[in-house]
Amino acid sequence: MDHPATDLSLRDVVAALESLYPLGSAADWDRVGLVTGDLDQPVRRILFALDPTLDVIGEARSWDADLLVTHHPLLLRGVHSVATSSAKGAAVTALVRAGVALWVGHTNADVADPGVSTVLADALGLADQRPLSSEGGHPIGRVGELEPPVSLAAFADLVATALPDTAGGIRVSGDPEAPVSTVAVMGGSGDDRLDDVRASGADVYVTADLRHHPVLEAREEARGGRPYLIDAGHWATESLWLMSARDRLVSALEGVHEATRVETRVSAIRTEPWTFVVGANAARADRVAPRTGGVS
Ligand SMILES: [Zn+2]
Repeated sequence: MDHPATDLSLRDVVAALESLYPLGSAADWDRVGLVTGDLDQPVRRILFALDPTLDVIGEARSWDADLLVTHHPLLLRGVHSVATSSAKGAAVTALVRAGVALWVGHTNADVADPGVSTVLADALGLADQRPLSSEGGHPIGRVGELEPPVSLAAFADLVATALPDTAGGIRVSGDPEAPVSTVAVMGGSGDDRLDDVRASGADVYVTADLRHHPVLEAREEARGGRPYLIDAGHWATESLWLMSARDRLVSALEGVHEATRVETRVSAIRTEPWTFVVGANAARADRVAPRTGGVS
């Protein structure tokens, strides 16, 4: 398979990525930027994926990609070995052996504009967008308006249509008939922002990874009313960003070299860990649970 002609180096592409998603805007705990690769290596094919899993790295290798761009870091904690006896070590070894560079844009992509939550808000058709909160002086999350207002059930259907399907589906907390118009969104894990959501006056909050205690406490504070909550899945709420990142990078690279020809692809691999669901709706929470135990 022939590659298209190019004179782009990894150095050029990393500079373009980091002009779009500056490393300095990442959270202190985060680990973003270049993970593997030789800055002088040519880049002809770039694969985008949410997670650098072994399957995704396999796709990068079989497509002969020179660069893999992911949202989630491969290495967030210290490592003392990259031997193939661990999955992380196998991932690093596979990348290096195949000459695939890895670049990560995580919290620096969350706070970018357009960033992960902006892309999500756009996909839901939210008008009059503003930040939900700020992180290290950078805006994070989005709040916007649905025009016209719709019922919570209809909005949940809109979310399901706008986002890619996942095995986990979409979970909703609130009255299906209640009208909603102001929507807060946060791609990925968002249950640390429930106070910001309350302060924003949002009718409903779309995010992911909502845990029992923070959610139940927020619902108690709301006395069953607003803000309602929608857990649309981590992968689904963030994966739309990949298309945005791809398009922005291609535009930025056209500015580097007019004759640049680089092939790009967004991976179709769903790196959400959940595989299937059983028993959904078997016990709707707004119904009284049947008594269990023997009849006396
Ligand atoms: Zn995430």
